[in-house]
Amino acid sequence: MPADTSFSAREWLRYARQVQLPEIGPEGQRRLRRARVLVVGAGGLGAPAALYLAGAGVGRLTLVDGDTAALSNLHRQVLFTESDVGADKARAAAGQLRARNGDIQVTGVAAPLTAGNVDELVAEADLVLDCTDQMAVRYLLNAACRRHAKPWLFAAVDRFAGQLALFDPDGACFQCLYPDHPAGLLDCAAAGVLGVVPGMLGLLQAGEALKLLLGLPTPSRGHLLLWDALGLELRRLRLRRDPDCPCCSTAGRAELPKAPGCAVPGADWELPPPSFAAALERGDGALVDVRSAAEFAGFNLGGVNIPLDEVIAGDPRLGDRPLLLVCQSGARSRRAAERLRAAGCEAVFSLRGGILAWLEEHDAH
Ligand SMILES: [Zn+2]
Repeated sequence: MPADTSFSAREWLRYARQVQLPEIGPEGQRRLRRARVLVVGAGGLGAPAALYLAGAGVGRLTLVDGDTAALSNLHRQVLFTESDVGADKARAAAGQLRARNGDIQVTGVAAPLTAGNVDELVAEADLVLDCTDQMAVRYLLNAACRRHAKPWLFAAVDRFAGQLALFDPDGACFQCLYPDHPAGLLDCAAAGVLGVVPGMLGLLQAGEALKLLLGLPTPSRGHLLLWDALGLELRRLRLRRDPDCPCCSTAGRAELPKAPGCAVPGADWELPPPSFAAALERGDGALVDVRSAAEFAGFNLGGVNIPLDEVIAGDPRLGDRPLLLVCQSGARSRRAAERLRAAGCEAVFSLRGGILAWLEEHDAH
């Protein structure tokens, strides 16, 4: 697909300073261009976060906000000018981002995030940024991101302090951290905030988001970062899963397929090599190799290479289509299949015993 692999002259020039980083390069830039990020809240956190995601070339940004801009917002919501006061924040912010980068798609949804629209919005995204100041919305996002197996970045500010955490679909969730709505906590409308603090947190969010999309280390994953702007101190605490969490505990997810590690070898979607070969022959699904790029380059059965961690991160190349997954010995493809099936993709199959079993079978004939 040349349209997806090459860059326009304008893109090449625009992103030159980051493409020259060996950690990014043209492939990293392509990953950013393919990425779909949902930013919930176009205020003090969402403005700086979205500005840098747009600047970096994240291909599809959706901003959700049901509020209108007010004069009291301008000390921290840096996407708005005095002439925006009274305008829908989502539309005004989207317009500002389009003016800065015409090579990406920016959508403004001028509505609050509710139980009625959260699933549709989260399902379309590879990553969700919580840039709201409302705890109720965070619980809504937490549950939706679990349902759709999407990672999300929580951030909150309060006076001179901020918090940030990257919640993986696998690890501790927001409700493990805050089982109940902490009254009076994390509400800048009530407590006040120094404008630069959401700016700092929004940039930390954008940085973690870009690193996640690029496959670089994300220290906020499974951790709570506590930022104190007065003392210039950053603390990092490991999050622990609550076995009784109503959102992510085993009991709470009883309706989902088996959790990773609990699968009995021989589940009906684990196909032995002859059945897998027949499924491939019939065109029952797209062949995806979930090993590393180096392993794939070494030997492969064809298809597309999407390493396991990228499958787990919800790589957009997976699409919404039947899949036939392979790896070296069948463990990684089983894990990938479990994850995708838990997320609701039913037509996902794994090669039992992996490429090694396939080759043995092949040699036996
Ligand atoms: Zn939980």
